[in-house]
Amino acid sequence: MDCSAAKKNINSFLRETLIGNELRRTYYHLKECEKCREVLLDEFSFYTTFNDLDKDLDFNYQKKLNELMDATEKKIKSKDNKKTRKYIIISIGICIIFVILLIIALRITYK
Ligand SMILES: [Zn+2]
Repeated sequence: MDCSAAKKNINSFLRETLIGNELRRTYYHLKECEKCREVLLDEFSFYTTFNDLDKDLDFNYQKKLNELMDATEKKIKSKDNKKTRKYIIISIGICIIFVILLIIALRITYK
């Protein structure tokens, strides 16, 4: 993902409306790219100011943004884990079916 695509997604990222690959690609770009992270922090402080009316004066945007980034990474990783688990279960299922077919074939052959 390049910077212009990532910048386009920053608003959706902050509203937490990005999903799937778009979220993953945006997240990892924002994590690696210094320039985009500056834009992200700007947008984040702007966005948070409008949404948190009862914020205190020494509200730490960078810290809050880091929390959001961590939460997002956890979300992405738990999705990955679920996907991996699904593939493992499907693979085991296919193996079991194959073994059953093999047993049937052997029984037919050596009757
Ligand atoms: Zn960038």
